Amino acid sequence: MPPVAVSPVSPPSPTLDNTSKLTKAGTAAILEKTVSNGLQVADLDASKLTITRNLNPKHVPAPNSAEVWSQNCTTDHMLTARWTEKAGWEAPEIRPYGPLSIMPTASVLHYATECFEGMKAYRGVDGKVRLFRADRNAKRFLQSAARISLPSFPPEEFVKLLKKFVGVEAAKWIAEPESFIYIRPTMIATAPALGVQRPKEALMYIIMVMFPSLDDPSCKPPSVPTPLNAAFSAGTQPESKHVAASKGMRLLASRHDMIRAWPGGFGNAKVGANYGPSLVAQGEARARGYDQILWLFGNECFVTEAGGSNFFVLWENKQTGRRELITAPLGDGVILEGVTRASVLELVRSGAVGGGDVDVIERKFTMHELIDAQTEGRLIEAFGAGTAFFIAPVQDIHFRGTDLVLPLGQEGQDGADADGASFALAVKKALKDVMYGRREHEWGIVVEEEKEDAYE
Ligand SMILES: *Cc1c(COP(=O)(O)O)cnc(C)c1O
Repeated sequence: MPPVAVSPVSPPSPTLDNTSKLTKAGTAAILEKTVSNGLQVADLDASKLTITRNLNPKHVPAPNSAEVWSQNCTTDHMLTARWTEKAGWEAPEIRPYGPLSIMPTASVLHYATECFEGMKAYRGVDGKVRLFRADRNAKRFLQSAARISLPSFPPEEFVKLLKKFVGVEAAKWIAEPESFIYIRPTMIATAPALGVQRPKEALMYIIMVMFPSLDDPSCKPPSVPTPLNAAFSAGTQPESKHVAASKGMRLLASRHDMIRAWPGGFGNAKVGANYGPSLVAQGEARARGYDQILWLFGNECFVTEAGGSNFFVLWENKQTGRRELITAPLGDGVILEGVTRASVLELVRSGAVGGGDVDVIERKFTMHELIDAQTEGRLIEAFGAGTAFFIAPVQDIHFRGTDLVLPLGQEGQDGADADGASFALAVKKALKDVMYGRREHEWGIVVEEEKEDAYE
């Protein structure tokens, strides 16, 4: 499709509800809706937590080793909490990591009644362990659960449990300053019955997995090809002209017949059902040497998200020449409201990044607008933002026969990357400063750790 001129500034539709659901009022409404069936059932209660130690502790693999790249290296324990419709939440447990036992008829195995979160715990330069804006993840977890009829819970109790769990594992599993571990809270419907209905039993669990530093291009897997990042892997052949440097993320725009999410759907919930059907496209991207799919929507080719990350563009406004940071809006339910996304927007709006010279715009924008901006020399940078890949500058985008090469891609020869994506890197630094305790900030939540000898 040839690039067509599109009016660069189309104001957001007035009917669009742009308000964030990650608010007190939003979660209160869900809690009210889901708890008001008249029965007195037990709420999730962190004070009831019990701990059973793993008597066969694992060894901790070296950072970025093959074991870590396998993304199967979990810590010694997991946190579980069972829920039933009759009794509500049972006492949560921290217990040795191991298999779950569920019936083949369990709802999750048939009807994708599963939601999850993705977070990290960070060991700071000051030796303290922090979570980043865990309250936001807790609220989103609750909203995702509500979207697929899983039980509600007080988000504060979830955060308390998470802190306790991190406090148990941190000394051993995130021992080094400036290291982190990935946390995966999950909820599944376990009720053993094939009937299509609201689940009567569920399990919330939290596991922790060692993760390579996916945002660091110098961090490559030892020898095994990884499914995670084809550009870094030995097993795939990137298209010849791009072989040079893998300094940034390479995106393949989705085909018109593959849609990730749609208005009124569930793209705004972090549910497993969004991911299974995206793996064909993702596999094609990897096979062609790209890292992620850039998900487009509609005949207009609206730009929505990049894989499991929100997508940002820095460009100059055609009329005013001012620099704008633009990202897809919330409100129609097509994108996930990332915690990283919200944080980037707040950092730039407050002037903490960009010095107040960058306008922040949340509106629909199209691939054609991106191509126009690039043709006219107004495209400055693009980057993905999410917990897993963190802030990932984009090197190029392949869109139906057209290669859109970003400044990072042009300048991305050895040693020149810092100039190629300076805005993304400034954002990244500001976030890292909070995560690793270089800057005291309310977003960094310090976790109280258990003494290490509690293991003995
Ligand atoms: C998890 C996720 C993101 C990023 O959210 P963060 O809270 O920033 O980690 C973005 N898009 C999708 C589809 C996701 O699943």
